[in-house]
Amino acid sequence: MTVVENPENVLVDRFGRVVNYVRLSVTDRCDFRCVYCMAEDMTFLPRQQILSLEELYEVARAFVSLGVKKIRLTGGEPLVRRNILSLVERLGQLEGLDEFVLTTNGSQLPKMARDLKAFGLKRINISLDSLNPVRFRELTRTGDLANVIAGVDAAREAGFERIKINSVIMRGRNEDEVLELVDFARDRQLDLSFIEEMPLGHITEHDRQLSFISSSELRELITKIYPLSPANSSEATGTGGPSDYYTMQGTSTRLGFISPHSHNFCHLCNRVRVTVEGRLLLCLGNEHSVDLREVLRTHPGNLEVLQQTIRDAMNIKPERHYFNLEEEPQIVRFMNMTGG
Ligand code: SAM
Ligand code: SF4
Repeated sequence: MTVVENPENVLVDRFGRVVNYVRLSVTDRCDFRCVYCMAEDMTFLPRQQILSLEELYEVARAFVSLGVKKIRLTGGEPLVRRNILSLVERLGQLEGLDEFVLTTNGSQLPKMARDLKAFGLKRINISLDSLNPVRFRELTRTGDLANVIAGVDAAREAGFERIKINSVIMRGRNEDEVLELVDFARDRQLDLSFIEEMPLGHITEHDRQLSFISSSELRELITKIYPLSPANSSEATGTGGPSDYYTMQGTSTRLGFISPHSHNFCHLCNRVRVTVEGRLLLCLGNEHSVDLREVLRTHPGNLEVLQQTIRDAMNIKPERHYFNLEEEPQIVRFMNMTGG
């Protein structure tokens, strides 16, 4: 466990977990409609309900002043937020923010990768669930595979290192592409994480109970071709994430398996999420939250009140979450609202 040197400037919850990682959603909108993430017909938030870029910056600044070292911009699709580069530029200069990273669907990277790098973004995760253009379109409903691959290459050319591909694998939809995805990552020296589908929001396209495929099953499949050596589990590295990492011979590519179902990682949790409405979510799988927008708009420019609200919020961070595929989702928010 992290040693707390200056308790005033560190966020610690009731269970002694230090929170030093924030996933900040900058929009609920997206140019894709991935089948596991959104309904086909979505209603997005009206402008006045979402945090302005200035308010997002204030939130980030408050967290960093409280010892947060890592911020991930997410969404929705973060790069479709208007003027997002201006926020990236400001966050890139925030002192104390050691890891400034982004999760994207890749569609805007052909035109933005270079600026993102220049403005101080450190790393990029790109979601990619299929290498077959027709299937890619089916899974994303609107996406163009060639454009996303061009985005991956633009990120490499811009000089980003340790680019990571995130793939959600679903039985009957794309589990036959697991090895192709591994080869894609190996060829381009990318890392690759497989994510188990989570029951967030109601979807109608497939039955999550039937499509669920566990990380251990995927690992077995890959091991038949590429023997895997355990690298650094989250336990060992203290990343606090639900990922287990493996290396393969003859490549720098690391494989991760993100298993919210088959793995209980809650005792290591070091993260919170902020939705684009300014709702501070203390846990991905619970509804415990605090309204930061209210604080921002009642006390504009008052960093201290914001800091105190965030400190107090640590007292309601739940000990753990429960996901149960056999029941209706208890979490009715879609992932685009949660900030993936
Ligand atoms: N639009 C960006 C993207 O797709 O990378 C960022 C936001 S997206 C919500 C973040 C991640 O959440 C993506 O890797 C996506 O595959 C994953 N995701 C969305 N819904 C999910 C679900 N129900 N279960 C597991 N992962 C999900
Ligand atoms: Fe958009 Fe990302 Fe959700 Fe896909 S996973 S619909 S790209 S927010």
